[in-house]
Amino acid sequence: MKPSGYDFLVLGAGIFGITTAIALRKRGYQVGVLNPDHLPHPLAASTDISKAVRMEYGSDTEYLKMAAECMEVWLQWNERFQYPMYHPVGFLLLTPDSIESPEFSFELNCWQNLQLHNFQPQRLDQDQISQRFPAFKHKYYRDGLYHAQGGYADAGKATELLCEHAKTLGVLVHEQATAQSFTIKGDQVLGVQTKEGEKYLADHVIVCAGNFTPYLLPELQPYFRVTGHPVFHLKPDDPTSFLAENFPVFGADISNTGWYGFPYHPRERVVKIGRHSLGLQLHPEHDPRVVSPQDHRDLREFLKNAIPELARAPIVNTRLCCYTDTLDGHYWIDRHPQIKGLTVGSGGSGHGFKMGPIIGNMIADVATGGTHQWSSRYSWRDLSIDTVQKEEARYKPSH
Ligand SMILES: Cc1cc2nc3c(=O)[nH]c(=O)nc-3n(C[C@H](O)[C@H](O)[C@H](O)COP(=O)(O)OP(=O)(O)OC[C@H]3O[C@@H](n4cnc5c(N)ncnc54)[C@H](O)[C@@H]3O)c2cc1C
Repeated sequence: MKPSGYDFLVLGAGIFGITTAIALRKRGYQVGVLNPDHLPHPLAASTDISKAVRMEYGSDTEYLKMAAECMEVWLQWNERFQYPMYHPVGFLLLTPDSIESPEFSFELNCWQNLQLHNFQPQRLDQDQISQRFPAFKHKYYRDGLYHAQGGYADAGKATELLCEHAKTLGVLVHEQATAQSFTIKGDQVLGVQTKEGEKYLADHVIVCAGNFTPYLLPELQPYFRVTGHPVFHLKPDDPTSFLAENFPVFGADISNTGWYGFPYHPRERVVKIGRHSLGLQLHPEHDPRVVSPQDHRDLREFLKNAIPELARAPIVNTRLCCYTDTLDGHYWIDRHPQIKGLTVGSGGSGHGFKMGPIIGNMIADVATGGTHQWSSRYSWRDLSIDTVQKEEARYKPSH
């Protein structure tokens, strides 16, 4: 390493950070990564058994195209790493009435936008839904679309494999290294000091610290919100109805209820159900990260109505997983406007994992002074408290 330390020091080894480190190392730079405690970090959003990989983004063509690009790379990574990081089991959207009804504009926009871009989702009526996906309550859902291109990533395992890959490329990954403050001279970053008492020098620091990003950079706090979202693992008596061919990744009227879920996980042997809503604003470390009794009641009520076979299944694990939300729901990837040698790659907003195959290159492009074809909308921006959350799948309760 040069006397001035790393060319690039990445803070955080979640999917944003580790793919950034790989992208920069492949361009010939000396790259270090810092992460607290040990990896995989239990509080990282990327440490999870599954994350949806979908191009269903309503009318948002940019996310659709980004996700489509990522799916091709996820498939290549399955080959490259000889491990099924990505399970292309399909993605299903269900609604209790015709998607032409105004309250289902998310599903209608998905349907129209996918076709407009030459993808081939299948429209399903009440009978087809009941026949193909019998775990859903008979005739409860009256309309739906199934898209074979989609599925889920085995998120924690994928992040671990990418971390190992980064190391083989020559990235130095430092565990038990919690960035606490920046060493700055004038308007130039020189490195980072850690809670553990170490100093790391670098020409450029990239903050990919997930939920902790707005705490490392308090100037981002007006634009970021850390929000907790309940996740449940259920163990059905008989997994047959929940195997991927009968039960793909799904959104159950998601923009009006928040509920979504995954097929029976082949390794973990559970069905995972989560809620994609505005969530509970909290501090990721100081506040308890527990699923509330109300969340449990809401889940049971949803299952009773929608997936009766799971309604009494034991819950074997719960988690309040935190989104690093930006006020508008878009990622945040840009150089710091005042401090040279400092870049932010964060703001996953509950839908960033699937973008792993391109996000690191996007952050690397921006950190090295360039742009990426998708980067402009993720730039440093001045958002007000009235900013509307734009991710269309998200359930936004009115109260
Ligand atoms: C409940 C839930 C469901 C989700 N579902 C989906 C989904 O279905 N599909 C999808 O695409 N996305 C989904 N997401 C979003 C996705 O998980 C995130 O966008 C993505 O994992 C964010 O990655 P990251 O690297 O930014 O953050 P993280 O994975 O949280 O990684 C940040 C890393 O930074 C480290 N760190 C923290 N503080 C410091 C510090 N001071 N110094 C150094 N390192 C530090 C942490 O330990 C951690 O390892 C979901 C998120 C949640 C919470």
